[in-house]
Formats: sequence, C-alpha cells, structure tokens
Amino acid sequence: MSKTFAWWQDKAATLAIEGRAFIDGELRHAHDGKTFACESPIDGRVLARVADCGAADVDAAVAAARRAFEAQSWAAMSPRQRKAILLRWATLMREHLEELALLETLDSGKPIGDTTAIDIPAAAHCVDWYAEAIDKTGGEVAPVDHHLVGLVTREPVGVVAAVVPWNFPLLMAAWKFGPALAAGNSVVLKPSEKSPLTAIRVAQLAHEAGLPRGVFNVVPGGGEPGRLLALHRDVDCIAFTGSARTGRAIMECAAQSNLKRVWLELGGKSPNIVLPDCPDLERAAQAAADAIFFNMGEVCTAGSRLLVHRDIKDAFVEKVIAAARRYVPGHPLDPAVTMGAIVDRIQLERVLGYIDAGRREGRLVAGGARVREETGGFYVEPTIFEVKPDARIAREEIFGPVLSVIAFDSLDEAISIANDTEYGLAAAVWTADLTTAHEAARRLRAGTVWVNCYSDGSDDLNFPFGGYRQSGNGRDKSLHALDKYTELKSTILRLR
Ligand code: NAD
Repeated sequence: MSKTFAWWQDKAATLAIEGRAFIDGELRHAHDGKTFACESPIDGRVLARVADCGAADVDAAVAAARRAFEAQSWAAMSPRQRKAILLRWATLMREHLEELALLETLDSGKPIGDTTAIDIPAAAHCVDWYAEAIDKTGGEVAPVDHHLVGLVTREPVGVVAAVVPWNFPLLMAAWKFGPALAAGNSVVLKPSEKSPLTAIRVAQLAHEAGLPRGVFNVVPGGGEPGRLLALHRDVDCIAFTGSARTGRAIMECAAQSNLKRVWLELGGKSPNIVLPDCPDLERAAQAAADAIFFNMGEVCTAGSRLLVHRDIKDAFVEKVIAAARRYVPGHPLDPAVTMGAIVDRIQLERVLGYIDAGRREGRLVAGGARVREETGGFYVEPTIFEVKPDARIAREEIFGPVLSVIAFDSLDEAISIANDTEYGLAAAVWTADLTTAHEAARRLRAGTVWVNCYSDGSDDLNFPFGGYRQSGNGRDKSLHALDKYTELKSTILRLR
C-alpha cells in the first residue's frame, strides 16, 4: 500500500538521525567535538548536529583507508567475494529504502516520491551494477613477440577520496564509491554539509554487509575536510562532483601536494534545441519543463537553455508553461508533490538573485516568486523567461527552477548559441529528420546528447556521464568509470 503524507510525517517525527562521522568501521564524534547544525529546507528545522570533521578526522580516515588497503583486506579479496559483499550492501539499502528516502527528503527538500522511486533505488542499483561487473571484467594479453608474454592488468589506485554535492546526495556518492570499491580501493567520502545524512547511514550498512573496517569512511563537514583530502599526500585519487570553482581549487591542491589523480564532474548550462520539424511538440514541451523543473532545477544536466525556432516559439512556450503546471511547490513529504524545497537559504537567495537579473534582462513569462514562506522553508515557483543568448541568466548556471527561452532562425545559429558556453555537459535536439539529428548530435559539444527526448536513459548505468570543457573530465557511470579508480599495469615476461 502506498504511504500517505500523514504516514511519512509520523515516521519523520520518530526518526533517529545519526550525525557522527564513520571512520575505521565505527561511528565517531569529530576529534575536537565540533558539530554543525543540519537544517531541513522543508521548514528550517534543525534535524541533527553533525560532526564537523577537521584535520585530525581526515587524517584518521585516510590512515584507516590506507591500513585497509595495505592489509589488502578488500583489494585482494576475490572479485566474487567483493561482489557478494557489495550486493548485500545494495540489498540493505533497499531494505532501508523508507528510512534512507526520508533522511534524503528531510535533508535536501527533494520530494519523497522522488527519493523513494529514484535516489535510493538508483544508488543501490549502482552498487549492484559495479558489483556484478567486477567479476566479469578482466585484463588483456598483449599480442607480442613469441619469446614474451605481455599482460595488461588493472589494479586499484589505493585510497580514493570522493567529494560530492547535495542535489542527489546519495546517488552522486554512489557513482563514485560504487566503481571505486568494486575495483578494490578504500574510500573516504566527504558528503556536502547541506546533505550529509544518508552517507553516514549507508556507511553503517556497509559495515553490516561485511565491508572490512577502514575500507569505507565518511567525514562530514564543509569545504575544509574536502580541501584537506585534496591536499592529503596519502590520498591517491580524488573524485569530485560540484561547482567549477571548487573543482579548480581541488586541482590546485593536487598540484601543490602529491599530484593525485583528479576527476571532476562540474556544472552545466545545457541547451535543449527545438526545431520546427519537431515530431511531437506536446512531448517536447513536457520534456522541456521536466528538464528544468524536476528536482527544483537542481540538476547538473538541467535543460536550462531552451532554444526554439522563431516560427514556433510563441506556441511552444505556451505549451511549456502549461506543462510546467505539473510542478507546484509543496511539502516534500506529501507523496503527491512533484516539486520540493530549494536545498537551503543560500541557494534560495542565489536563485532569487538570478530571477531579479532575469526581470531586468528579459521578459518573465511564468512564475518568478518565492512561495510557502510561512512554512519557514525555501520554495520557488517554476520560472520562465524569454531572453537574448547573452543574458546573464542564459549564460550562468543557476541550479534552480529558472528556464531561459532563446529564439533562433536557423540550425547553424542554434548550434552556435548552444556551443557558446564554457560548459559541455549535455544537450538535446528535437527534429524528425534523421540527417539533421545525426549532424546536430555530432556538432554539439557535450558529453551527452539526447535526440527527441531529454534525460532518457539517465537511470541506465551503461551510459558514461560527464562533460566536455569546464563541465569536467573523466566519466561517471558505465565500465569507463573503472578507468578512474584503477592503474593500468604492463607485465612483460621473457620466456627464453
Ligand atoms: P560545491 O562545489 O560548492 O560543493 C561540492 C562539494 O565540495 C561539497 O561537498 C563541498 O563541501 C565541497 N567543497 C567546498 N569547498 C571545497 C574546497 N575548497 N575543497 C574541497 N571541497 C570543497 O558545489 P555544490 O553547491 O555542492 O553543488 C552544485 C554544483 O555541483 C553545481 O555546479 C552542479 O552543476 C554541480 N553538479 C555536477 C554534477 C555532475 O555530475 N557534473 C552533478 C551534480 C552537481
């Protein structure tokens, strides 16, 4: 039976929330006892005091991870055994679906319908997927001279730090720890200070599933533990998802310390191009609205720039406005609600600042207001502007429910506007013509291109995910993600 709003509220009222770090197989307070208040964006209520990890905690977590790696308690386990433990962990995540979804919703303001159907199942699926992959992916035998045998094998890099954002807190973390752990590494995860709760809980479940101590550690806190991990000489690799500004700082830290491998998944300003021969304008309009209003627009691949051919622009914008009516901000614990709260006051003010800029630069055609202020939470209506391509809101990542509509007159112009950005995470094009579809897909400079859809396949781990240009480097998801967490070794044996 599906759960009601009242059921979730009751469950929230009695939920026990853990705020300690998880280091070397146990829950720990920060060494100096510091905590920070973890607030819910639903109503501004303090959910828990969470360990504010500093240098001593980061050192302890990295040392535990290193000890586990040197002891080979995980790395040298047979792939089949590692797989069994990871599968058990994913099963435990599913068994704790309601608890984890509730933590995620309270912490980040995402609708409970999404955290139960998407965030938590997708994170468990990610762990499953890499667990299932790891006993099926071997090395290579090089085709060398007959007096030699050449082996090309993959080995775990060692200690991996994962620093992640708040928009899909557990899922973005799973995209890192799934492949990193499957490959045999030890991991230190630094969740965002805005959404640390599910990371702490799944660390406990990892231990319950049988991950040896020290293999998976969680150090909550703000930028400081992230910076310390990036600077740490005993971290071999740092995998980051977040803003370009922080990504740049992490690269600098790696350069100043031990040249650890740095993998960055950064922001986007993704174009969604609708050509006049779009095969289904109704579906395209709903997809355009979903592309920017799902998850309150807090999506790195959000289709935040809607490029529409001038001939169909007015009619199409009307359809997008109608489609956006599906998104009415409401209490995230109500299963009927499709739009929750913005993650915190800082992000709310950032979004409202961009809406003000939009009013000055363009024409507001829908939304534009903060709502439900009386709840103490942070809610913004779906907002749509018509703007010129050089408007600030059409160039900078907002990470909120704000859509910029831009008119164009030719495919060449659309591609040129689409590619005129420092980012390159995703793009979409809508056309009935196969040649146009292929040519546009080839010309769009982005890690993912959708044709006649938007975000389809995002839940499928087969597709590599990542960006061109300042949207990052390396790829999450797919077997290619294992490249980030493994070193390639050539072993050459002389036979005679
Ligand atoms: P952010 O860069 O502010 O923070 C990300 C993480 O880095 C947090 O855990 C934060 O505590 C930590 N951090 C902050 N300062 C640090 C420092 N100096 N050194 C090391 N770590 C530090 O980003 P955010 O606001 O949490 O997330 C929003 C951004 O993330 C957006 O730009 C969005 O596009 C991007 N994002 C990208 C993807 C992707 O896969 N490409 C996915 C989700 C979000």
